Amino acid sequence: MPHGVDAQPDRVIIFDTTLRDGEQAPGFSMNVIEKLEMARQLARLGVDVIEAGFPISSEEDFESVREVAKTVGQLEDAPSICGLSRVGLGDIDRCWEAVKHASRPRIHTFVATSDIHLKYKLRKSRAEVLKAAVDAVRHARGYCDDVEFSPEDASRSDFDYMCDVLEAVIDAGARTINIPDTVGYAMPHEWGERIARIRERVKNSHRAVISVHCHNDLGQAVANSLVAIQNGARQVECTINGIGERAGNASLEEIVMALRTRKDFFGIDTRVRTEEIYRASKLLSHITGVHVQPNKAIVGENAFAHEAGIHQDGVLKEKLTYEIMRPEDIGRPSNKLVLGKHSGRHAFKIRLKDLGVDLDGPELDKAFKRFKDLADKKKEVYDEDLLAIVSDELTQVPETFALDYLHFVSGTGLIPSATVRLRREGHAFQDSGTGDGPVEAVYNAIEAITGIKGRLLDYNLRAVTQGRDAIGEVAVKVDFDGSVVSGKGSSTDVIEASARAYLNAINRLVRPSAGARVAEAGP
Ligand SMILES: [Zn+2]
Repeated sequence: MPHGVDAQPDRVIIFDTTLRDGEQAPGFSMNVIEKLEMARQLARLGVDVIEAGFPISSEEDFESVREVAKTVGQLEDAPSICGLSRVGLGDIDRCWEAVKHASRPRIHTFVATSDIHLKYKLRKSRAEVLKAAVDAVRHARGYCDDVEFSPEDASRSDFDYMCDVLEAVIDAGARTINIPDTVGYAMPHEWGERIARIRERVKNSHRAVISVHCHNDLGQAVANSLVAIQNGARQVECTINGIGERAGNASLEEIVMALRTRKDFFGIDTRVRTEEIYRASKLLSHITGVHVQPNKAIVGENAFAHEAGIHQDGVLKEKLTYEIMRPEDIGRPSNKLVLGKHSGRHAFKIRLKDLGVDLDGPELDKAFKRFKDLADKKKEVYDEDLLAIVSDELTQVPETFALDYLHFVSGTGLIPSATVRLRREGHAFQDSGTGDGPVEAVYNAIEAITGIKGRLLDYNLRAVTQGRDAIGEVAVKVDFDGSVVSGKGSSTDVIEASARAYLNAINRLVRPSAGARVAEAGP
């Protein structure tokens, strides 16, 4: 029986939790199709473990984990597919039902060990929690060999008690022991010492892989992960773009590129194909509508500053002057002109393939049609335009409301007004609205038709590429009576893109499988 990922002294296991911890953060929720698309890219990236969700938390999350296990988990050389579970035996059963379809399934179970959590959240004694942890791991081992255990809030737990729990769960069969800094409180030096002390104090620790899960509340998540590796951790839990609860998790791309660029210092490898990093980052931004800040390490717009013209002279004279990494190391495209109005279907397909996207049949037809429409409006079609088109196509939610017609009038001295026609199940509905500007007028018209009231929390417009004729991409975050939903839309017309983004948020809100989640968040 395969038992997941084997630890090696000079290699660290990359455990990606973009689809679990990352996805739980407000404004980052993903549906089944979106999770699948992201999981495919994570597999191309070469992560060792994909934590695909928290199956008991909602019907939709269960379905997402199961679909990821069935498809991505069955690929040749597939990553392990992991599901999160509390220590309740029913939770573990549900988790197994979702991950069992993968060729390498993993169950990750957790319970808090800090007195604060024991007293206020769990209302259990230390002895009761230890027993629940051991029972959970035994129960999970009845299903599969690859079981991971996390003592939640480890950085604030009583050290000796936590070590007793760890020793007991390793005896019960846990293969990976994950030490989370759930609240992002640790500092690198003390965190490194703590990991070293755990390895010393837990007598059977050599029988398990030590892992860390660091949050970024004080900006130390990547530093804490790296120092843990230096102190013997051989798995790190991280996310693309560092997304996650509150200030996020340790960023995968920063950890991987630090290990690679400073191999001389760490002497440790990962299995990650770094040329897939940029695409993974972009895909996540397209799916969630949330873009990284320009100065974000590794994947930010300015991360390779010489591209923006700064230090250009120095770089041209000698690349080593400023460059410690090359853009091609992370697969960053040179943004060169690729296709135009006269490019054929074959050229389109080939170019997509170069970008890592393999489309066929109706999906290719739809994407090609959107490319032709775009090429009519815009002379030069860049790689980034293609990625925008394709990720929109691949990750669409079912369109309960589809935009059929849009007309707006605006100008100095005019009251902006808009007329919108939407289709729902074959029927057309039309209404109009006015507003302070054309976007508000369009949104008021949409509200009049759908009857769904939303409060706009965030609105972002950006050009996908350079040039006056660039595609505008709008990302919105809308509060519909307490449910915060994000939406995105793109068009060369920014008002139309705004309308599409708002409708996308509404379609996500009303999609049939969107259900409530359990409140508990996990490590
Ligand atoms: Zn977390």
